Amino acid sequence: MTPNDCLFCELVRSGSHIRRADGFAAFEDINPKAEIHVLIVPERHIDTFRQIGEFPAEEVRRMLEFIAETALSLGLEDYRVLCTVGPSAGQTVFHLHWHLLGGRDLGSHLPALALAEVEGEQ
Ligand code: AMP
Ligand code: ZN
Repeated sequence: MTPNDCLFCELVRSGSHIRRADGFAAFEDINPKAEIHVLIVPERHIDTFRQIGEFPAEEVRRMLEFIAETALSLGLEDYRVLCTVGPSAGQTVFHLHWHLLGGRDLGSHLPALALAEVEGEQ
């Protein structure tokens, strides 16, 4: 996967964003698994979190702050941040992204189980 044919590279460049700030974008997940389900995506393309070492430390910090600020801007105090790493962990889009899930009580289960339960309730 190269940035030229990557869905999230395209969405970061020209999608409809909830928030956008130096190098990062937040947009709604097309298939929400919680009342609020936002994806946080860095402009810089890496396939998965495994390559996080390619990001300058300062950029990693700003990315995490951007996630926290996005949650705050959505009025979320409690929420879940989830990153899938590899197909058998549920990753389907191979551009690093963070799921920000919140709204209705997500419960105390492990994330995958909680997601499956939310899906089953819909
Ligand atoms: P993952 O399965 O962890 O790789 O997460 C990829 C996420 O991208 C899934 O939750 C999808 O619902 C979401 N997704 C796929 N295509 C789009 C799109 N065009 N716009 C917004 N979200 C998308
Ligand atoms: Zn990409």
